Amino acid sequence: MPELASSLAATITGTDSPGLLNRLMESIASADAEILDLEQTVVRGQLSIGVLLGVPPRGHDLLQDRLAGACARLGLAVSMSEGVGDNPPRINRAIVTILGQPLLADHLAVTTQVIAELGGNVDRSRRLSRTPLTSLELWVSAADVTVLRPALARAAALSGFDVSVSPAGLSRLGRRLIVMDVDSTLIRDEVIEMLAAHAGCEAAVREVTERAMRGELDFAASLHQRVQLLAGLPVGVLDEVRAAVRLTPGARTLVATLRDLGLAIGVVSGGFIEVVAPLAAELGITYAHANSLEVRDGRLTGRVAGPVVDRAAKATKLREWAKAEGLPLSRTIAIGDGANDLDMLADAGLGIAFNAKPAVRASADTALNLPYLDAVLFLLGLSREEVEDAAAARADHPFGAAD
Ligand SMILES: [Mg+2]
Repeated sequence: MPELASSLAATITGTDSPGLLNRLMESIASADAEILDLEQTVVRGQLSIGVLLGVPPRGHDLLQDRLAGACARLGLAVSMSEGVGDNPPRINRAIVTILGQPLLADHLAVTTQVIAELGGNVDRSRRLSRTPLTSLELWVSAADVTVLRPALARAAALSGFDVSVSPAGLSRLGRRLIVMDVDSTLIRDEVIEMLAAHAGCEAAVREVTERAMRGELDFAASLHQRVQLLAGLPVGVLDEVRAAVRLTPGARTLVATLRDLGLAIGVVSGGFIEVVAPLAAELGITYAHANSLEVRDGRLTGRVAGPVVDRAAKATKLREWAKAEGLPLSRTIAIGDGANDLDMLADAGLGIAFNAKPAVRASADTALNLPYLDAVLFLLGLSREEVEDAAAARADHPFGAAD
């Protein structure tokens, strides 16, 4: 086995100013040090550099003298530690994203306690956003995602913040498919309730909806019951409802940014294609699937045309669209709030319960409980700055309008 070369780990801290790293490196250049690793952050003007330097034989003293001298001249504090070799290999890496409004020290304490108890270690971290919520990304090693994910989800739910755990690696990069539910996910409304308001049967319909979403009623049966209450509505009401639908805050930003990233996007809904398809077209969403309302003589008959889009059908669409895109399920993301989203949330590589009913929240990989759909972008590893830069770059793009 080759002998490990000696190395010097240095931590340098102080007040940041332009050109500091340049002056530090110039001061040690003649000591022939090799750069093995460098991590640098600046937090509110305070610089912190961690550097690992490969040291030539008998070169430690010279290197340490040069570095100590440079730091003294530049007003920086330095601590150095002699050793051998590179960083130990980081195995079983996972990305833990925590989000809060506000994000409290207690939330980070709870997160790191769970990580430590399960034998993991936080190697790196960075802030992703401060608005509309604060989010941090923690790079964890020695973590078993299948154990860490449910443990952190439970702890976060108890402490009142949101958390997501993803395996690090290729599945987090490159092309993916994202499939969203519509009612109470992509949009704030439940379309059937809006239709019911026109038909004057709002309370009756809402009661059936709530029971179905809590999983107390078979979805197909409940849909037939509710659609029956709409019989006789003039078909023009669909246009009125379509125009009145309100997008969830952040929905437009989410879809536009995902499009910029080249992700495939679909919406699947237990609602109605008459509302979902124009919405998908307006946002630039490729795939859309929902129930179809039967119409005769310009009025709703009270029947659904064709098979009902239920819990199983939603998961089937996720698989179908993934296949069409040539993507494995590990590269899919599903977002939904109701009981009929449970199968697709379970089947997707990452299932996100968005402001979901308790039963859904309890079984999904990840729960987002703050009402911003674009927070999903932070779970994918984008920072607020990157999202804003992308929005500025498409300022005169048809999908570039702000939420
Ligand atoms: Mg929904």
